[in-house]
Amino acid sequence: MEDHSLRSSASDAVPGVTVQVAVPRPLRQVFDYAPSEAGIPERGTRVRVLFGSASVVGVAVGKGESAMHSLKAVEEVLDEAPLLPPDLVALAEWVAGYYHHPIGEVFAAMLPVAAKRGRQPPDFGETVWRALDDEEDALRRAPKQRETFLRLQSLGEVLDADLASAGIDRSYLRALLEKGLVRREATTPRYSVREDHRIAPTAAQIAATEAIVASLGTATTHLLDGVTGSGKTEVYLRVIAEVLERGQQALVLVPEIALTPQTTARFRERFGAAATLHSAVSDVRRFDIWTKCAQGVHRVLIGTRSAVFTPFADLGAIIVDEEHDGSFKQQEGLRYSARDVAVKRAGLLSIPVVLGSATPSLETFENARRRRYRYARLPERAGDAAMPAYRVLDVRGVRLDQGFSAPLRDAIARHLAAGGQVLVFVNRRGYAPVLLCTTCGWQAQCPHCDAKFVYHLAGRQLRCHHCGARRDVPQACPDCHDTALTPLGTGTQRTEEALAEHHPHVPLHRIDRDTVRSASRLDAGLAAMREGRPAILVGTQMLAKGHHFPNVTLVAVLGADAGFLSADFRAPERTAQLIVQVAGRAGRAERPGEVWIQTFDPNNPNLRALIAAGYRGFAKNERALRAAAQLPPFAALALVRAQSAKAANAQTLLKQAAELLATPEVDVLGPAPAPIARRADLHRSQLLVVAERRVRLHDALRRLEDADLKAAGVRWSIDVDPLDLS
Ligand code: ADP
Ligand code: ZN
Ligand code: ZN
Repeated sequence: MEDHSLRSSASDAVPGVTVQVAVPRPLRQVFDYAPSEAGIPERGTRVRVLFGSASVVGVAVGKGESAMHSLKAVEEVLDEAPLLPPDLVALAEWVAGYYHHPIGEVFAAMLPVAAKRGRQPPDFGETVWRALDDEEDALRRAPKQRETFLRLQSLGEVLDADLASAGIDRSYLRALLEKGLVRREATTPRYSVREDHRIAPTAAQIAATEAIVASLGTATTHLLDGVTGSGKTEVYLRVIAEVLERGQQALVLVPEIALTPQTTARFRERFGAAATLHSAVSDVRRFDIWTKCAQGVHRVLIGTRSAVFTPFADLGAIIVDEEHDGSFKQQEGLRYSARDVAVKRAGLLSIPVVLGSATPSLETFENARRRRYRYARLPERAGDAAMPAYRVLDVRGVRLDQGFSAPLRDAIARHLAAGGQVLVFVNRRGYAPVLLCTTCGWQAQCPHCDAKFVYHLAGRQLRCHHCGARRDVPQACPDCHDTALTPLGTGTQRTEEALAEHHPHVPLHRIDRDTVRSASRLDAGLAAMREGRPAILVGTQMLAKGHHFPNVTLVAVLGADAGFLSADFRAPERTAQLIVQVAGRAGRAERPGEVWIQTFDPNNPNLRALIAAGYRGFAKNERALRAAAQLPPFAALALVRAQSAKAANAQTLLKQAAELLATPEVDVLGPAPAPIARRADLHRSQLLVVAERRVRLHDALRRLEDADLKAAGVRWSIDVDPLDLS
């Protein structure tokens, strides 16, 4: 245990009431400090304190009492009013307990970086730029500035955030500002509720909206189960309209919003404004939005995972869209599920939370079944759109050309010729997952991981998708020196290459993590699709997220069903969700869609259930299997992971952990090597902890926390409700 030397000879504080402070260190307790002259700060106030020999920013979480004469005093109280409202402090405490994570580090994960450093909130305002009249004479010798000036003048006023899209260069603007030719003014976002008269809600939408609105002011969780395109977003918008009418705020959590600008646009259109938080938002900006939500200036916030920790003045409802999406789970550091934290937060605030999905997770389905969650269903697509028809293409014994069977190639050509658009889903990025020597069988392997190198076309490189290592493709096999090196298997790049060959005159775009680094890049790729003329889109699961392609008439799924065979018990669920979500992109308008699933395993029971009875049919089967195997949602799970340079060290620590954890009511499996047993030169092992009753799981994990196990060079962590067992 770190020496936190709370004793200080210099302190003149008297024994008595103390300030309890959570400090940003991996320690499971809070620490007592003597109050400064500013008195006892309220819970949620940031304070600067001396911890060991370091001055750190912590969060005051309560009052204590101490007879100790020589407590160090709080050095500085950083906030006049608590930066974190009471519900967030309570939420942090719950998160620390549930995820078995040090409280100070929970706060550190919640706070924007600038807030963690003790800075005061920035105040960006919503800034608008305006040109001042008649000053352009001064610009005769600066044509670029003059151009900028005239552009701004012609536009009237431009929001700071919109400068780039208005084609205005900030550097010239700054020069103009120095010359006093333009002005920067603060405005506040103007929220107002506009009705969309083009849409007459369906009976199902009305029923769902009314049920949710009726629960405002109460801690109620709703599952909104509706196929893609059934009008879930329309329900969210109507619920939020009611929340705003009541003077409250709304939080909308979405997966990867940077990639779905259309969603944001729809909210802004309806409510006049909406703030967004996602990974591309700079940290100061984040702190600004954070503060403005706390002040009630922003009334609708759309954000990814960590937005669940935003403070609000008066939050009225939370929406979690695509609640099944894996990106709501943070996989490192504080391993929390934003969906589950949202449900808890709504409970603390006595407000409703809506979990929406076309493919609800089995956990959420089960909660609805057990009536913990209210259930609303939108059974049909909105408007005139029909559901796509599935077709399984058995390719056992069939020769594939770059991954395509002849019938699938024909189908693609047919749809394009008929003026349709085609979406091709491939579950792997890169060109090929394996580079093989056909003479001796050598395969390119990452030297740092137990994983194969993926062959990438760009720069003819081998890349490791686990540690990021890169190599040039060798000229010859390092073992037998033959040059017979062949890429094996199919990734998105290879599919793209094949399609470009088959259809040289059709616009073709690839969407995966290698091509899409920003919303603007993605937008460019989707522009052709929006135009509606024949086009092909190839991509990974990024395709399945939130985009609407009304003119897609054919969706081809290549090799995705391999996921049904993975050892991870969640893989079938993930695979079914993926197939249904990708399929849901097709035929949203008047054109009905077709979904072709090309597979080597046409009789797979999961695939059969999915085709025959849709996602709900699949979920029913899968639920029975989970129940029989005592897996979530019928048991509570945690994964204890450990890694070290020497395999034995991690194993030894986990053996000790296993002894602490196991009881008659808590099963411990392992230590066993992780599915990828070595990553970035570290050996990885894990324990799976299973309990029928969640309280028993938490008891066991608390024993583990208290034991504070340590071993040289071993890093270990607890993952409660793990999603990814690798
Ligand atoms: P989801 O969120 O379930 O995918 P959306 O709310 O985005 O569905 O709706 C899909 C499309 O249908 C959108 O273009 C939306 O404007 C439209 N839509 C929604 N509800 C209706 C309705 N009641 N009548 C006609 N069109 C609707
Ligand atoms: Zn060889
Ligand atoms: Zn690697």
